[in-house]
Amino acid sequence: MTNFEPKKLKNIWTIEDSIATYNIDKWGDKYFSINSKGNISVAKDIKSANKIDLFKLVTELKSREINPPLTIRFNDILKDRIHALHEAFLKAIKTYQYNNIYQGVFPVKCNQQKNVLEKIIELGSPWNFGLEVGSKSELLIGLALLENQNSLLICNGYKDEKYIEIATLARKLGKNPIIVIEQRDEVKRIIQAVHTLNATPLIGIRAKLSSKSSGRWSKSIGDNSKFGLSIPEIMSTIKELKEANLINEMKLLHFHIGSQISDIAVIKDALQEASQIYVELCKLGAPMQYIDVGGGLGIDFDGTKTSSNTSTNYSLQNYANDVIATIKDSCELNNIEHPTIISESGRAIISHCSVLIFNVLGTSHVSSIQKINNEKNQSLIISNLLETFYELKKLKNKKINLSQIIELWNDAKKFKEDCLVAFRLGFLSLAERAYAEEITWACAKEIANNNNLNNDDINHPDLFEITETLASTYYANLSIFKSIPDSWAINQIFPILPIHRHLEEPFCKGNFADLTCDSDGKLNSFIDNGKIKSLLNLHEPEQDKDYLIGIFMTGAYQEALGNLHNLFGNTNVVHIDINQNDSYKVKNIIKEDSKTEILQLLDYSSASLVESIRINTESAIDQKKLTIEEARKLIDQIEISLRKSSYLSE
Ligand SMILES: *Cc1c(COP(=O)(O)O)cnc(C)c1O
Repeated sequence: MTNFEPKKLKNIWTIEDSIATYNIDKWGDKYFSINSKGNISVAKDIKSANKIDLFKLVTELKSREINPPLTIRFNDILKDRIHALHEAFLKAIKTYQYNNIYQGVFPVKCNQQKNVLEKIIELGSPWNFGLEVGSKSELLIGLALLENQNSLLICNGYKDEKYIEIATLARKLGKNPIIVIEQRDEVKRIIQAVHTLNATPLIGIRAKLSSKSSGRWSKSIGDNSKFGLSIPEIMSTIKELKEANLINEMKLLHFHIGSQISDIAVIKDALQEASQIYVELCKLGAPMQYIDVGGGLGIDFDGTKTSSNTSTNYSLQNYANDVIATIKDSCELNNIEHPTIISESGRAIISHCSVLIFNVLGTSHVSSIQKINNEKNQSLIISNLLETFYELKKLKNKKINLSQIIELWNDAKKFKEDCLVAFRLGFLSLAERAYAEEITWACAKEIANNNNLNNDDINHPDLFEITETLASTYYANLSIFKSIPDSWAINQIFPILPIHRHLEEPFCKGNFADLTCDSDGKLNSFIDNGKIKSLLNLHEPEQDKDYLIGIFMTGAYQEALGNLHNLFGNTNVVHIDINQNDSYKVKNIIKEDSKTEILQLLDYSSASLVESIRINTESAIDQKKLTIEEARKLIDQIEISLRKSSYLSE
């Protein structure tokens, strides 16, 4: 039983109420909605009427033994996002009569999973969509997967000799790697590689911009940023490339001002500065062809369309327009040909398609008295508390006087504190202390469920702790550190809501605790119409029935950054195609990690772990602490468990 009571009569809760509660019409760019059964439905693309029922999908996946926690990737949404990005640039190119093309790349670090990259390459191929890599391992993936001879392979990150040599030779395979100089001493390594290999790479340069950035990644820009060359360094690099006879390979200017840039003004400033650098590079004699505007294209996680950290004050089309228009202006003023435009938009492409589903294992909350116990010789403090409770109960259905309620609540808190003092001094038994606490929570409940109090009343500074205290913790079958690390590391907010039961009022309030033994393993920041709140409206889980929660727009960065805290491993992953007739096809299933697989990553062998435990059982049998039968059972259980999921099963 929750501490809260429904505000609306049970049968008048509508889908519209749920939409308003979870703002589902605001975030998510229209891919998600609620169907007539009260379940979340997922659309094939933003224009499509083809939708599938997410709750039904998860239920049917469970029948296939694909249990939550579960990552579902919708191939169609990925396709739609890639499409939308290219359409936006095509439209901007047309609008501004830009004389060149857009040719994007996907930054591999955003999601390196093989199934994801293969899908992106397949879906992006009509536009010659390429990849951006930031390390040697990513480079190897890029070389192996990217077969389209017209796609670009942008090589970023710190580069040693081997990195440069591989990228240089790959040009001879008919691939299009462009080595972007990020650091001054990469220049001499490139020159060295050219001598050693007798081959030349295509070269780009990453500029360190001075324009101001904002938001979480504002340090990606400015004189002290980690990457890129300052203007003096660019000048000496050009000189050096000229001397080495390599200036003819210098084709690209790159910049990246951080991820999830919320404010279009920041993007415009950076674009202006970079366009001007581009023009100057042309004037210095480099045969420039490309300008690569990096990542940073943000998405609206909170649905506010503002420059808050989790939103953007611009649309995809605004972004494309600004990129095209700014670059065009600078080039025309200087009589320079329009370059091919590259962007490295990761988050904006890959976020929407992934939904993380977890089940709730149980709930807990402070308990209040079930039954009043009117003993004669009760301690005075307890009878005082009880009296306060009766007063509050009387006020429940009366026209209220807020100050009276506040006074009574302050009394209750004072009496509770008195109880604690009395307990410490030995005047109150443990049972009495428990009783006092329960009466205090009963007082809180009377206030929280008083229908005459409105939202402002209940959020009054003297009362607002009540809701928080009475709220429930929902135990999530999930590791935040593995599956949604940004919510822990940088307080990133993701849309979170139940994927079913939207025809019922979610009158409980709660937040989530994950499976790890870490007190940071909590989800307690939720989107509420532009504000962030610590509690989410939830339903009371029903006995023996699943209560399934979805975390939306999780496709970018989460899988790559997830860690093995407490040894919870990769969740199950499925790729889904949505068919025309509102049905679906399960395309790929990537099974979750077994405990054996996770242990292996840390150099443990399951066999030797089992063997050590078996040797222990032998001594225990020797000492008659364990029977042979018990030992066998224990080893059997361990062996079975090692093959199974690291998460809780039913
Ligand atoms: C991380 C990164 C990106 C991707 O940025 P998003 O904001 O996710 O689009 C692009 N380019 C570079 C150089 C990066 O480091």
